[in-house]
Amino acid sequence: MSLSKVKHIVLVLSGKGGVGKSSVTTQLALSLSLAGHSVGVLDVDLTGPSIPRMFGIEDAKVTQAPGGWLPITVHEADRSAGVASLRVMSLGFLLPRRGDAVVWRGPKKTAMVRQFLSDVFWDELDYLLVDTPPGTSDEHISLAETLLQKARPGQLAGAVVVTTPQAVATADVRKELNFCAKTGIRVLGVIENMSGFVCPNCSQCTNIFMSGGGEVMAKDFNVRFLGRVPIDPQFLVLIETGKSPRYPAGTSINGQDISSPTDAPAEGDETRDSALLVHKYRSCSLAPIFSTITADVVANVA
Ligand code: ADP
Repeated sequence: MSLSKVKHIVLVLSGKGGVGKSSVTTQLALSLSLAGHSVGVLDVDLTGPSIPRMFGIEDAKVTQAPGGWLPITVHEADRSAGVASLRVMSLGFLLPRRGDAVVWRGPKKTAMVRQFLSDVFWDELDYLLVDTPPGTSDEHISLAETLLQKARPGQLAGAVVVTTPQAVATADVRKELNFCAKTGIRVLGVIENMSGFVCPNCSQCTNIFMSGGGEVMAKDFNVRFLGRVPIDPQFLVLIETGKSPRYPAGTSINGQDISSPTDAPAEGDETRDSALLVHKYRSCSLAPIFSTITADVVANVA
């Protein structure tokens, strides 16, 4: 069975779309890999699979083996650098046209999710992150049921719930936490994304929306609060253009100076920008935040 070599399965959930669930999945994966844990990402967000774009592998072709698919390798393990392998499988790879899955009816979606869980050949993995569709729809329930049936006892470690300061004010996140309670999925913690803004000009992190609601909500539900993640336009630049993040002198996040060294290669330096995503991500302001979040999740799973 395809999940038999996977040690821990972690679901990434959000009550609504656009809160940064796929960005969080991507960064958890990069961060786990940087911490030496082999990781796979399974993208079953049928509402619009965005994981291939996040990893810059939109044109990758999946290979069909007898009885299933082989995931795409984003990078192999590099033991000398302490980096573990990262592989990805997305529904996006199988769609003839973008947006095709969105028009499928419930039973077809459910069948696809089931097939996806059993027919991808994952090699030895420390963590499999599952990027799920937003909400608490039929797909979720089906996914949760299938996972609970297919996983070994204890293999489904739990769920990371992503929200934003504004989404906390809505009922969506609470619905998501209630969904976990109802389906018996343990909540590993809540992440408040888009909490503040790393200004590329003034080197300040400002709160555009009120921040802190995620923490209050986590307390209400008696689940862990994993941290606040600001909006960083340099993260978007990294994803959209592949350029390494750069910050003006004095940029500080959570009291940590993350400004780019003055001897950093000039903008447009080809060698720097052709590095692997996982190495470029190290210089992103969000990397130390995710390193702390990942360490918390790993300790919690163990
Ligand atoms: P979802 O998966 O919840 O629909 P995405 O992860 O696709 O949301 O995020 C929506 C958009 O916002 C994407 O373009 C993504 O790169 C961007 N984004 C999300 N979180 C951040 C962040 N912390 N900093 C900068 N951009 C972000």
